Amino acid sequence: MKIFINGKYFNEKTATVSVFDHGLLYGDGIFEGIRAYNGRVFKLKEHIDRLYNSAKALLLTIPMTPVEMTRAVVETCRRNKLRDCYIRLIVTRGPGSLGLNPNRCKNPQVIIIADKIQLYPPSMYQKGLDIVTVPTTRNLINAVNPAIKSLNYLNNILAKIEANIAGVEEAIMLNAQGFVAECTGDNVFIVKGDELLTPPLTAGALYGITRGTVMQIGEQVGLRVRETDLTRYDLFVADECFLTGTGAELIPVVKIDGRVIGNGKPGKLTKELVRRYHDLTQSTGEPIYK
Ligand code: PMP
Repeated sequence: MKIFINGKYFNEKTATVSVFDHGLLYGDGIFEGIRAYNGRVFKLKEHIDRLYNSAKALLLTIPMTPVEMTRAVVETCRRNKLRDCYIRLIVTRGPGSLGLNPNRCKNPQVIIIADKIQLYPPSMYQKGLDIVTVPTTRNLINAVNPAIKSLNYLNNILAKIEANIAGVEEAIMLNAQGFVAECTGDNVFIVKGDELLTPPLTAGALYGITRGTVMQIGEQVGLRVRETDLTRYDLFVADECFLTGTGAELIPVVKIDGRVIGNGKPGKLTKELVRRYHDLTQSTGEPIYK
């Protein structure tokens, strides 16, 4: 495997960063998870835009232009001869001193890894997930805004640990007001009547790229798509529920906190959205091989 670090390609064993990197010491950095399907990088512009927005929020200067970054992502896939893969794009604050002052870090590190990923076993996509809400509250938007895709995922990891303890794969995180924010690595949607509903970013969610795509597809299939605050009750009485994320794609949810959602099987509209999302991934994106 060839891994991109600051413009050069390294083998897995030699692809290393400094132990003084503030990405390691403090989670000070940002990342993107991107997928390529059928020889094309899906929604690459959206991921690059979000990366640069995350950088702006952290006052982190990325030492490459968005055009150079786009080329580097495509080139990393090409060098690894990949057509279907998961790409992890990371920008760390870079090596500094043991103090946390980011001004001491003069060389942000850009890392691109292209590999395979399978978040959930295929049977879970067929049967749907059984998930729970967890005690760990999603980060406050005025503390570490969940809109920033930072390397600091401890909030999400604590929630994932609670999901593990409960014996399930994923956790729904609520915000400090008790409204649904998102899952540890996915956004949440429900179908209720002819509406497709998802929490707004102000509820403490990442502006998910899959979320945005699914909102567009939802409109195409005639659903009324709306961002609105949701309570646990709204989830329990939903007709259908599913999660979205680049890694997870669309995955149905059939049980939440012991309450069966709809008829306990992946919903009809969820399946239609999955089908259309899949079609889109196979036919659009930035070509890797020209
Ligand atoms: N929320 C969180 C916390 C995430 O980490 C992710 C990405 N894995 C998502 C939502 C989904 O975002 P996207 O569709 O852009 O991958």
